[in-house]
Amino acid sequence: MSNYRGCPRCGERSLEALHSYSHCINCLYSEDRYESLESHYFKALKEIKNIQAPEPEQENRKEILKFKKLENEEQNENKNCA
Ligand SMILES: [Zn+2]
Repeated sequence: MSNYRGCPRCGERSLEALHSYSHCINCLYSEDRYESLESHYFKALKEIKNIQAPEPEQENRKEILKFKKLENEEQNENKNCA
């Protein structure tokens, strides 16, 4: 029993989806379900870390905004002088 799906590499409908892995009979692309589950797990861990620690990035953005504001004020002063 097998069914064919679209292959992410070559785009042909030749990706044979088997129980534990998929492979493309056209370009030999293969996908291990167990491996991809694991990589999804690590991706999720990374996203959780990003959700738990968004503070530093916001602080940096504030600093950048402050800096840009200062820059604009300097430019305005220069315009007033000229
Ligand atoms: Zn393919």
